[in-house]
Amino acid sequence: MERSLRVATDYRGCLICHVLDKDESDFMAELQYRTIKEEKVRQDVVSSNGYCNFHFHQMARMASPMGNAVLTKDLIDAEIKEIERGSFGPTLRIDCLVCKYVDEREEFYVKEFKALLSEKSFQKEYEATDGLCQIHLRRVLNLLKENELSHFLLTTQLMHMKLLKHGLQVFISKIRSTRRDMGDEKDSWLVAIEKMVGKKGLRQG
Ligand SMILES: [Zn+2]
Ligand SMILES: [Zn+2]
Repeated sequence: MERSLRVATDYRGCLICHVLDKDESDFMAELQYRTIKEEKVRQDVVSSNGYCNFHFHQMARMASPMGNAVLTKDLIDAEIKEIERGSFGPTLRIDCLVCKYVDEREEFYVKEFKALLSEKSFQKEYEATDGLCQIHLRRVLNLLKENELSHFLLTTQLMHMKLLKHGLQVFISKIRSTRRDMGDEKDSWLVAIEKMVGKKGLRQG
């Protein structure tokens, strides 16, 4: 399951978002399998109060109806006991295991990116990508503070933004002129959205 950002330079969009998305899917697939097979894992999920809204719906799509029924029955059971004991509180506390895992991996990749940046060969590879999303760019810049690597990162970001803007302009003018010979720019609006907010479901706190 261990990934490195080095494998992500061939894909469109933010490198960190890309590997994070893969890690998250792998983790969820394994977790949903283990919650059915292993009582202890299911109890961990129950004591975390299930998953956050986003991940619960994602997990439900991955799991079988039976798997969903077994887990939700345990969660409902726990809440019934809470009400009966009189310990049902007004604050909903969900310690989503998937969010926790994604946060840890994100931390790891931000640091890995910072370390890779000092390699000239990686800088070259990075220039040829779409660059980082706004969220991850700022996370890395916060680690770098003021130095020449942050200058490189901002110069490259400017280049990536200008290329993306050009791609969007080409896309818009092709649609307006009803031309359908789309090249790389066909995904430009999707890359632009990810550039602004990161991958789907990324926490920005
Ligand atoms: Zn990102
Ligand atoms: Zn979550």
